Amino acid sequence: MAKILIFNNDTDRMETYYRGEAEPMPYNTNGTLRVREFRGSSKSNILWTTKRCMQSWNSQRYIFGGPIPVGFAFKRPYEGGHGILSQHYAGVAFDVGQTLSSTRRTQLWNSANNSGVWSYVEPISLTPTWVHFDKRFRKTCLLNWRLSYN
Ligand SMILES: [Zn+2]
Repeated sequence: MAKILIFNNDTDRMETYYRGEAEPMPYNTNGTLRVREFRGSSKSNILWTTKRCMQSWNSQRYIFGGPIPVGFAFKRPYEGGHGILSQHYAGVAFDVGQTLSSTRRTQLWNSANNSGVWSYVEPISLTPTWVHFDKRFRKTCLLNWRLSYN
């Protein structure tokens, strides 16, 4: 059971949820993003993200029109990662498509890049075996720092 904090961008408030690893993330529609997918290999007993980020995932999944395998989204700073780190620490970034064929992964990258859903899609040249997209949000950075050091 994970404790999940969601920053609700519409009310400007934090919400707290408790979810099993096989359950969908809060605000996820149609079970397309499980808690265990969101956390990937993270061992953290508390996870966080934003409502806007979850809605962006729903939109991206709908636009792509097929399953999107998730490597991970959330990471704590001490759990490592790749170039665009802080957005994963803030729980608003995804590394996906690791198990897709390279053709299908390129389709996913194009879909993400053209969707208008994300703040940033990492250039395909920097992500040869995955697709990184994130929904940057200034407040989550502040939130992340506060949570990380409490
Ligand atoms: Zn990433």
